[in-house]
Amino acid sequence: MIVFENVGKKYPNGFQGLKNVNLKIDQGEFVAIIGLSGAGKSTLLRTINRMHDITEGKLTVDDVDVMTLSGKSLRSFRRKIGMIFQSFNLITRTTVINNVLTAFVPDMSWFRSTFSLYTKEQKLKALECLDKVGILDKAFVRADQLSGGQQQRVALARTLAQNPQIILADEPVASLDPITAKSVMDDFKRINETMNITILINIHHVDLALQYCTRVIGIRAGEIVYDGPAKDVNDQVLQEIYQGAKEEAV
Ligand code: ADP
Repeated sequence: MIVFENVGKKYPNGFQGLKNVNLKIDQGEFVAIIGLSGAGKSTLLRTINRMHDITEGKLTVDDVDVMTLSGKSLRSFRRKIGMIFQSFNLITRTTVINNVLTAFVPDMSWFRSTFSLYTKEQKLKALECLDKVGILDKAFVRADQLSGGQQQRVALARTLAQNPQIILADEPVASLDPITAKSVMDDFKRINETMNITILINIHHVDLALQYCTRVIGIRAGEIVYDGPAKDVNDQVLQEIYQGAKEEAV
C-alpha cells in the first residue's frame, strides 16, 4: 500500500510542486493521474520511487518510510518499482531481448554485466516477459526497427523482468497514435488484472483514463482536487481539475 500523509514537495528554487497530498493506494489498483500540464503529475509519481524527495509530511510504501531509505536499501526498494516513460528509453541499436535483459544489470557483477553474460534463467525470463506483452516474435529484431507501440511494449517487458510490485508510467501513450495508445493501455490493464501489480499512470487523454483505469486522481497546481472512481468523473469534476485551462490557452 502506498500512503501519502500531508505530503508537500518544495523544489530547491522555492516552487511548491505538491501541497498537502493525502492518498492511500492499495496493492493492485489501476490509477490514472490527470491534470493540466505543469499541475504536478510527474512530481507526484516521482516521489514514490524517490526520484524526487518530499519536503513535508510522510510517504510510505508497504509501511516503509521512503525518506528513511538510502544507498543499498534505496536501490533494492527501487527494484520493486518499475518506471515507464513517454520516450521508451530503449537502447535502439541493439535487439529487443538485449533491452529487456538490461533489467538484470543492477543484480549482476561488474564482470558479468560488462560482458553481457546473462544466465539461461535470465534469458528465459526476458522471453517470458516479451510473451506477456505479445511481442515474443520480435525478440531478435533491433529495437529501432519497431513501431512506437512495440517499443513501448519492450519497455513494459523490461519493467516486468524486474518483477515489480508497482509500475509508475509517466505519459506512456502520449507519443502514440490513438489506436496504438489503446492497445498499449490494454497491455497495462491485462498486466494489472493478471499480475496484481499496482499501476499509476499519468495521462492527458481523459477518455483513456476513464475507459481503462478504475480510480482517477485529479491534480491542480500541486493539490489533489479529485480522488474517486473513474465512473464518477463527470463534467463538473473535469471543470474543477482543468480549471484555468482556457485562460492558459488564450
Ligand atoms: P506535470 O507532470 O503535471 O506536467 P510536473 O510535475 O512535471 O507537472 O511539474 C509541476 C510543476 O513543478 C511545474 O510548474 C514545473 O515547472 C515545476 N517543476 C518541475 N520540476 C522542477 C524543478 N526541478 N525545479 C523547479 N520546479 C520544477
